[in-house]
Amino acid sequence: MKTWPRGWAAALAAAALAAHPGAAQDGNAWRLDLSETVTYHIAEGAPGSGVTERDRTLALWALERWGALADPPVQFEPGPEGTATVRIFWVPAGGGLYGEMRARRIEGRPGADLFIRPDTDALGPDIGEMARRDPLFRDTVVYLTCVHELGHAFGLVHTRAFADIMYSFQWGGDFVAYFMRFRDQLESFEGIAAANPFSEGDRAAFSALYP
Ligand SMILES: [Zn+2]
Repeated sequence: MKTWPRGWAAALAAAALAAHPGAAQDGNAWRLDLSETVTYHIAEGAPGSGVTERDRTLALWALERWGALADPPVQFEPGPEGTATVRIFWVPAGGGLYGEMRARRIEGRPGADLFIRPDTDALGPDIGEMARRDPLFRDTVVYLTCVHELGHAFGLVHTRAFADIMYSFQWGGDFVAYFMRFRDQLESFEGIAAANPFSEGDRAAFSALYP
């Protein structure tokens, strides 16, 4: 219990800072350019990251979930690793971190790199034990981590509302319960694509960035 909320907080603080390069440069909030097709690259996964083929599917579902909030919905296409707008990498466990987002520019347009740590055993005894007992709980942790970090990629910042996917764990709370409220919607892996990871606050924050 000691290190992982701290690790999450540190990762989220770093992501929050990285999420606003535009704010420092030109006064505009960081956001992706949805006027053109958004390309993505989902990596195979670093050795030792613990990634599974399911996780790569989860990452794509998470991306499509955010895209569906836009009007019209964002069109995503797979792109080359070198130039994809959004890149998702799987990295080995470290420091109790769930994931992080690093903003970048690619060919003059905003882009984002996500680093997801799918080894749930490293996220503290409570999360690790639940994930071992319940594969859908484990999938939920990986999926919601992807959704959260992709939220940063789209330009959303942290909130203090426990109901939000953009809630920061630095504010504490029952993290198993946080994931269980999504897990409880599921009866199968395929159900993850249909379940709702967002609060009204998340939707409003997205709409404010992409009116
Ligand atoms: Zn965050």
